[in-house]
Amino acid sequence: MRKIIIAGNWKMNKGLAETREFVSSVVYALINIRSNRVLPLIAPAYPFLHEALRERGGSALQIAAQDVSLNNDGAFTGEVSVSMLASLGIKYCIIGHSERRQYHGETDSSVRVKMLKLFEQKITPIVCIGESLAQRDADQTSGVIISQLNGCLSEIPLVTGTEIIIAYEPVWAIGTGRTATPQQAQEVHALIRKWLVENYAPAVAENMPILYGGSVKPDNLVELLACEDIDGGLIGGASLKAEDFLAMVKIGSNN
Ligand code: PEP
Repeated sequence: MRKIIIAGNWKMNKGLAETREFVSSVVYALINIRSNRVLPLIAPAYPFLHEALRERGGSALQIAAQDVSLNNDGAFTGEVSVSMLASLGIKYCIIGHSERRQYHGETDSSVRVKMLKLFEQKITPIVCIGESLAQRDADQTSGVIISQLNGCLSEIPLVTGTEIIIAYEPVWAIGTGRTATPQQAQEVHALIRKWLVENYAPAVAENMPILYGGSVKPDNLVELLACEDIDGGLIGGASLKAEDFLAMVKIGSNN
């Protein structure tokens, strides 16, 4: 049975003290949500990953990076490599987020290269895909999703289905307060799972966590998680408040 993953993408929010305060309060509260059913995860900014890892101790709270460099090392000012993340003890990394695609030239092929590098260091990629509003309005959603899956995953070896986490994030729903309806999200999640069956194997499709992202909050999470193929959320804004994050982890643990 797939776990529910409640993943907070903090983007460029929170400094050192706020990171420390959030992690310590969540770690404390998680003692009362002992559940194997849910995997709570946050992705702070690079400078605070180390502190977040230190503060989590042996807690169930996992720490992810928000991106990683395409390059191994050398003259790439401002970049952080996969081996640097591994040396910290990072186990998860978001790649292909629409904001990276929009503002930093991320493409399906760069996502693919990053994924292979993350595999080498046993870091689980959280691979983001999703259509824009113009593409949805032009009825191109399925085509865009399939093309992103083909582009990101071509010749990527997936055997168990637990090697990666997919996050379906319709770009028009990110940070807009406009969530996809559970039916709209479920339709795309089912399409992704079908693609995994056809391109890999039924077991890969069955085991792979597929998260929904786009204005998820405690108020709409229950109905999203009620959908057969939605295994959790990649959550921006609502993951910044420990109280809301914990409320979503609780909902996940009861699912
Ligand atoms: C995100 O950052 O991936 C996201 C979905 O943001 P929000 O929840 O704020 O829409």
